[in-house]
Amino acid sequence: MPHSKTTVALPSMTPGTGRGLVFHRFGRTGARPKVYLQAAIHANELPGAMALHHLLPMLVAADRGGRIRGEIVLAPVINPIGLAQLAGSTHLGRYDFLGRDNFNRNWPELSGAVAERVGARLGKSAVDNVALIRKAALAALGAMKLANELQALRVEALRRSMDADVVLDLHCDAQAVLHLFISRRDWPGPARVLAAELGARATLYNDPYPEALTFSGVNSALWARLAARFPAARVPQACLSATVEYRGQHDVSHVLGSADARNLYRFLVRRGVIAGRAGRLPPLRAQATPIGGMDVGYAPRTGILVYHAREGARVRKGEPVCEVIDPLDARGPRARVQVPARTDGILFSRRPDGRLAWPGMVAFRIAGAKLLAHRRGVSGLDD
Ligand SMILES: [Zn+2]
Repeated sequence: MPHSKTTVALPSMTPGTGRGLVFHRFGRTGARPKVYLQAAIHANELPGAMALHHLLPMLVAADRGGRIRGEIVLAPVINPIGLAQLAGSTHLGRYDFLGRDNFNRNWPELSGAVAERVGARLGKSAVDNVALIRKAALAALGAMKLANELQALRVEALRRSMDADVVLDLHCDAQAVLHLFISRRDWPGPARVLAAELGARATLYNDPYPEALTFSGVNSALWARLAARFPAARVPQACLSATVEYRGQHDVSHVLGSADARNLYRFLVRRGVIAGRAGRLPPLRAQATPIGGMDVGYAPRTGILVYHAREGARVRKGEPVCEVIDPLDARGPRARVQVPARTDGILFSRRPDGRLAWPGMVAFRIAGAKLLAHRRGVSGLDD
């Protein structure tokens, strides 16, 4: 089946307006392995869309050359709702204006619906279980009543990802080095290959069933939750699902986009989705660390935010990472409050867009190997 491009209409929310989702498809429907890629669910995060802009013509050429072995479904920008959220010459694409929902939270988690449909039929054959579970997940999505445009967007994306062997959700941070969020069940295994191939400078593994219900989280958690719920049945981790954070919001260039596309392409070759030679796997740049070892630096008060370290820097526990300055205080250096690192690790992200801090604002995040007492009980990716 040749390359196709389709537009799926979303329900109109106001008279005279309507949006659609664009999907590209390569390879025969049902061919394996199946890979699903999407970018910019947080609509103001475009480095991933830039990588896909460079990947698409490579896939078209592979298709023309008869080299697509599996199936690839790709959404260059998955969130037209967020793309349209312009306010006062500023693009705000992280939260839905209508319901204030973070676009990458509260995705439908299907393990309950799947368990109801086929739980009793899961047995010792992993292959049969995978087929049953995928079919039931798609049926559960088909049975959902969709109240609005955002729900339709989520279900249309999941209808294309839920039966995939690999799901990559492309994001970015404010200022960051390339990093991944993965499920613990995939490390080292397939996620290690992904991290090496893409050149990840930090990889954070989450609990296999996170509470945050991100897009990549629900694609992955389906398998982990069913495996936990039916311990006598053989339920493998049939989907490698990862959130790929392509550096910072302003890291959009042809140099980065084409390099990222080449790395993605090589990963697809290595996974057998495209015929060819992947060559030697690049060395892993950073071992994965637990999400419970991720230190999050919060601004203690409002003021001017100044950093002492750049993203990607290795920092030590106790070292000041940034400071918040009270601009109304005349005491010079004494008007500054330091925010120290609380672990040794890689400062992989500096968070805010601007340089105004407010109490409780996330200022930075550090990937550390040691589980941190102050992070206990904290779940979610904060991506
Ligand atoms: Zn994001």
